[in-house]
Amino acid sequence: MSFYITTAIDYVNAQPHLGHAYEKISTDVLARHMRQRGEDVFFLTGTDEHGEPIADAAREEGIEPRELADRNAGRFKDLVERLDVSNDFFIRTTDPQHEAVVQEVLGRVHDNGHVYKGIYEGWYCPRCADFKVENEILEGNLCPIHEIPLTRESEENWFFRLSSFQRDLERLYAEQPDFVMPRHHYNEARSFINSGLQDVSLSRAKLSWGVRVPWDPDHVFYVWFDALLNYYTALTYARPGEDLLARFWPATYHVIGKDILKFHAVFWPALLIAAELELPQHVFVHGFLLGADGRKMSKSLGNVLDPLEVLEQFGTDALRFYLMRDVPFGADGAVGIDAVRTRYETELANEYGNLASRTIAMIGRYTDGHIPDVATDATLALEFDVLPAEVATVLDRADPTRALDLIWNRVRRLNRYVEERAPWELARSGADADRLRETLASLAEGLRVVTVLLHPYMPHSTERLLGALGSPEAEFRHALFAEHGSGARVEPLEPLFPKQ
Ligand SMILES: [Zn+2]
Repeated sequence: MSFYITTAIDYVNAQPHLGHAYEKISTDVLARHMRQRGEDVFFLTGTDEHGEPIADAAREEGIEPRELADRNAGRFKDLVERLDVSNDFFIRTTDPQHEAVVQEVLGRVHDNGHVYKGIYEGWYCPRCADFKVENEILEGNLCPIHEIPLTRESEENWFFRLSSFQRDLERLYAEQPDFVMPRHHYNEARSFINSGLQDVSLSRAKLSWGVRVPWDPDHVFYVWFDALLNYYTALTYARPGEDLLARFWPATYHVIGKDILKFHAVFWPALLIAAELELPQHVFVHGFLLGADGRKMSKSLGNVLDPLEVLEQFGTDALRFYLMRDVPFGADGAVGIDAVRTRYETELANEYGNLASRTIAMIGRYTDGHIPDVATDATLALEFDVLPAEVATVLDRADPTRALDLIWNRVRRLNRYVEERAPWELARSGADADRLRETLASLAEGLRVVTVLLHPYMPHSTERLLGALGSPEAEFRHALFAEHGSGARVEPLEPLFPKQ
């Protein structure tokens, strides 16, 4: 099965922040899990580099937009690397290959009769690069997202006949109740459509920093259309000589933030229909990360959690784990450095890291460094039986938080197992050597299973631990609790999550 998953592309007028990291990590967990299952995966992320805000910011700095885009795109690329994100390609909308395919696709939309020239007048947010409709404007004529004053803009535009896709979109939403997930965002998109679609600007005339409109070179495409098409264009040139479109189009999941729902849930499917392209299966909408005080993060409130700070202090795996663990995927959630520390100490260091060190140390001490090659505890095995299938089902619905919860329950189960069996007492009395061997074989096996399942969340630590357990295989089919201990030799392991 092919599985094509994308993040939104990041607008390069700002510094990367925790929200960017969150979206990339969650998408990466889903991509890594599907690869683990042997699916044919393509994972795309990148940067959105055209439009007025970039042109304005470059002018303020006295440099060319291209120079600003190059510099800032580099920061997002660095973040992706530091987060251990396994994207197959990083698209930049200034790539000439992207621009050429945007022109080709939108040229087809034009030739199919879905555009016309007209005058647009409305309230415009330069930061969103978007006109706002009356019912979303805040009191005082402010942008609902940026809370900055909107400007009155009037200009000659090419328009996309969004209104003519009213019925197509109504049918799409009726036939595909999981087109937008989770449900409340599906409802939000559907009610936007039901309220009546209006045509939207497809081009800007006052701007030069964008993709030229091929049939009217005084215009550039409105940045949103150029940006949305990245999901399609990337597949035309990411692997020269390979037909990735045939293999991966349409996308399985577009993972996005809720602030860009309208573009992905309304404009995007209409545009694809207009261009005679297949529609994605799902648009998954994640929530916003809020400060520890539950308010929007802002420097002035002092509640900003900086991803780089967490990476430096606790490491990449800890940040990945924390964000997937603490905020239910699809909902808003408060995050903060104290909560990171608590999860790190209680869950990563104590519950998981300690379990790993103890298990390996006991095998070293009591069974000569080898995982006993004896039957594992059938009762314990039962509690792991359904786990892989449950995790797969939940991740098929794009719920990495719930899947992690299921896995973590078994980590805790293994800790209770250590206490119940007290291997050190079995060893001291020497009377029940069989029970000691069964206990250690079962613990090692349980630890191996949870570690295979945790691999998409914490690729680095889990690889180390699987290596130390002498079973480096991390494919999903290895997440089955075996009837026998592996007999492998264990290697000493430095603490996975050292005390801070
Ligand atoms: Zn705005």
